[in-house]
Amino acid sequence: MIKVAVSGCAGRMGQTVVGTVRAADDLELVCGIDPHGAEADFPVYSTVAEALAGEAFDVLVDFTQPAVVADNLRVALPAGVDCVVGTTGLSTETLEELAALAPAGTCLFYAPNFTTGAVLMMQFAKAAAPYFPEAEVIEFHHARKLDAPSGTAVRTAQIIAEARDGRASEAPGKETEIEGGEGARGALVDGVPVHAVRSAGYMASQEVIFGSLGQVLTIRHDSTDRACYMPGVLLGIRSVGEREGLVVGLENFMS
Ligand code: NAD
Repeated sequence: MIKVAVSGCAGRMGQTVVGTVRAADDLELVCGIDPHGAEADFPVYSTVAEALAGEAFDVLVDFTQPAVVADNLRVALPAGVDCVVGTTGLSTETLEELAALAPAGTCLFYAPNFTTGAVLMMQFAKAAAPYFPEAEVIEFHHARKLDAPSGTAVRTAQIIAEARDGRASEAPGKETEIEGGEGARGALVDGVPVHAVRSAGYMASQEVIFGSLGQVLTIRHDSTDRACYMPGVLLGIRSVGEREGLVVGLENFMS
């Protein structure tokens, strides 16, 4: 039985993770952590430190906020707790710094996107990138999202840039933006323009648009329900015990 604590347990993702962990035969929900935790029929602590003092758990799942996730991990990892992190906004440098705090045998697993379809979208983008000189990413999210661009969009842009192997885009860039229209060509992430749309009516969608002479390839993924993340979260919880150090991306566990 894998003992699990859920950080951010009162949030939208946290509540879904709590239900998913409880429904799994091989997992045990030990506690939640949330300073704004609503009344629950399981122990809820305000901080990770209090949870570690009160309970024993193998895995911490964190879906909190970009501003607090690093502090949560700074407490959990040195205690030898494997961490499954979905909270976005962590830079590669910060992840490496946090992973270095963990004793041998402990894993920090961070997935910018736990949706299997989104992971496949990134893999298809990687396959297409060498054959198309132009690539742009457009992501669409609900209006309550706190970070822009999304972690998935950033990761997709990084993957495209790596697959391009240094070849620069020939499309018109930010120098073509008119006065008062700065940002029209998007944010450049590793040289790839990324555009973020925020609106009621969306949950999480992304398009990757590849252009070449006389052809356009569009790869699109839509998440329509938070349930889409749960198979990936379960895969992470069940896989971290066999890994150590920093692991970034659900694709590492999909085979
Ligand atoms: P939410 O605002 O509904 O929930 C966040 C919860 O974290 C809140 O209940 C809040 O009280 C709690 N919290 C705040 N500070 C805390 C702390 N120090 N310790 C513990 N809990 C704390 O947000 P959400 O929609 O559930 O999203 C949470 C995060 O997950 C966001 O960063 C979002 O971008 C990310 N996300 C990632 C994926 C993915 O696949 N990687 C998918 C969906 C959402």
